[in-house]
Amino acid sequence: MDIKKLNQIYEGKAKKVFATDNPEYYIVEYKDDATAFNGLKHGTITGKGIINNKMSNMMFTLLEKHGVRTHFVEQVSDRETIVRAVKIVPLEIIIRNVAAGSFSKRYGVEEGRELLCPTLEFSLKDDALNDPLINDSHIIALGVASEKELADIRTLAYKVNDVLKEFFCSVGVKLIDFKIEAGRLPDGTIILADEISPDTCRFWDAKTNEKLDKDRFRRDMGGVEEAYHEIFTRISNV
Ligand code: UDP
Repeated sequence: MDIKKLNQIYEGKAKKVFATDNPEYYIVEYKDDATAFNGLKHGTITGKGIINNKMSNMMFTLLEKHGVRTHFVEQVSDRETIVRAVKIVPLEIIIRNVAAGSFSKRYGVEEGRELLCPTLEFSLKDDALNDPLINDSHIIALGVASEKELADIRTLAYKVNDVLKEFFCSVGVKLIDFKIEAGRLPDGTIILADEISPDTCRFWDAKTNEKLDKDRFRRDMGGVEEAYHEIFTRISNV
């Protein structure tokens, strides 16, 4: 696609977003910067931006094949991808298959306990408020999303889980949990946006339960770059 990168319109913790000469498209650029605990912990994971860009694009392509609409258009370099311009719904949409992280802490459940069914929860994307949990009625009452949009988001999230869980199982990886974001196209359609990477998912080796994701950075476990490379190698060899 012939498109020109223009001014930066947003810089997040792990990505920059640029306008283009076509208002229907943005270019996202993935960085090596890593943060955790709402920005309290900072660092760099060398090569992360390249892996997260390529891996997200592979996951979006897989999901599109299964009928999930995503913002992915075309990768233009190791770190840059053309995406459909959407307005992000300010929610972190979290699906869990196995207890871990904040869920384990909140409910006093040991990490690694299989849940009887996948769970879905929302946090309001608001750094100043520390991304508080938010329920369906709050989302609708505050106008964060409409009832119809929320229904679409729920369907989208469970579908993403079904597709990704099966895919990662096929490469010897357990999909513990993940966060996605949804965006609105100009006509109001809800599509999958943001990224799907070891920054936003928990991946455990199916045999050893070794962590292959950002928890290695959050918890100072070492082997961070190696874990990102390991998961990327596994999905690349399919
Ligand atoms: N997550 C994310 N961004 C956030 C918070 C969570 O991508 O700001 C992902 C995280 O990587 C994990 C899932 O969402 O895969 C659930 O995270 P959790 O609520 O357990 O939070 P954490 O323990 O990471 O604070």
